[in-house]
Amino acid sequence: MHPKELVRKTFQEKFGLPPAFIARAPGRVNLLGEHVDYNDGFVLPAAIDRATYVAFSGSESDVSTLVAADFGESVQFAPPNIADKTQIDGTPMPEWANYPAGMLWAFSQVGLQAPALRAVFSSNVPRGSGLSSSASVEMAFGVAWQQLAGWNQTPMELALLGQRAEVNYVGVNCGVMDQFASACGQPDRLLYLDCRTLQWQTVPLSPDLSIVVADTTIRRKLTSGEYNKRHDACQAAVRLLKEDLPTITALRDVSSQEFNRLANKLPTEVEKRARHVVEEIERSRQAVPLLESGNFVRFGQLMNECHASLRDLYEVSCPELDVMARVAQSLPGCYGARLTGAGFGGCTVNLVAREQAETFASALSTGYEADCGLHPEIYICRASAGAGIE
Ligand code: ADP
Ligand code: MG
Repeated sequence: MHPKELVRKTFQEKFGLPPAFIARAPGRVNLLGEHVDYNDGFVLPAAIDRATYVAFSGSESDVSTLVAADFGESVQFAPPNIADKTQIDGTPMPEWANYPAGMLWAFSQVGLQAPALRAVFSSNVPRGSGLSSSASVEMAFGVAWQQLAGWNQTPMELALLGQRAEVNYVGVNCGVMDQFASACGQPDRLLYLDCRTLQWQTVPLSPDLSIVVADTTIRRKLTSGEYNKRHDACQAAVRLLKEDLPTITALRDVSSQEFNRLANKLPTEVEKRARHVVEEIERSRQAVPLLESGNFVRFGQLMNECHASLRDLYEVSCPELDVMARVAQSLPGCYGARLTGAGFGGCTVNLVAREQAETFASALSTGYEADCGLHPEIYICRASAGAGIE
């Protein structure tokens, strides 16, 4: 059953009446600029046609009741218990509840007291696969609370609150890209965001192109720990490079010439991490003109270079992702293929000539299965609208 129907039906069964509203917030896929959002770089995501849906109504009391239909679990919490992550009966919140509760907490941090709600949610964004199911949950609840309270935060403001929830409440040091893409997506367009100034523009996705997402089905645990380590290595690089470049505040401020001159001052591991970021930011600066002029071949090469860099320098790939990218890069119609999202498993993103997308998808599936013995999930995606009330 489609998650939108599932949440409507489950809400009716659980609460005995239909929901007042349904909120939807999509997952996202990033074409270029990986692991640079928390280094003030540029990213090129699109919201995809897979989303989290929340069926909800206001609640008469100050207790919120949330049902995670995909897990068959529910929680109840009230404002006094939010900060210490406990339910009204004193038991700890399950991990999944941190994302919606984190949104409530983030609103309270800017002086907005969100009303209690009754909600059922479900998603067809695969979890932990690099398509940002967590941001889609945050943005769907952000929209829900905004609707009940009658606030009018802009999509970017909601995205920043979602990032705050994930960094300070859930505890993952993420940048703003995931929430931004989920909040600000537009049909058939890519989004180009400057993560420092938060200025953004859209770029039409040529009708000649398809975005194909290929899920290795590999899920690694401890991803957030590895993620935070990469984040710390980038901070360490900035601290060390500041001795020679006192005005820099992020790796965004370092050109690759400067980096090459100073790289030997950095410990090997820090140097590799920082080199990926510096070079990836240079690649992503070229994205918009290449797409606008229809130079998909060069753009695709940058995607392939990005994969190699994530594999060899940032070291966030895994054998299955490398097979998926390698097979894709050898197939007709494929401009570029690379791992997307945090890494260590999950999905690749492929830019493919539209008329060859179906054949590409089935050949990729066969090639991956032959090599890894695993059956992948492959989605031909549409770039979609951002979060809102349905
Ligand atoms: P992703 O790359 O998909 O964002 P994360 O590890 O950041 O991976 O977030 C995944 C977590 O988000 C899940 O472990 C769960 O806690 C929460 N989540 C995502 N989708 C759902 C869902 N449909 N129902 C409940 N919780 C969800
Ligand atoms: Mg996430």
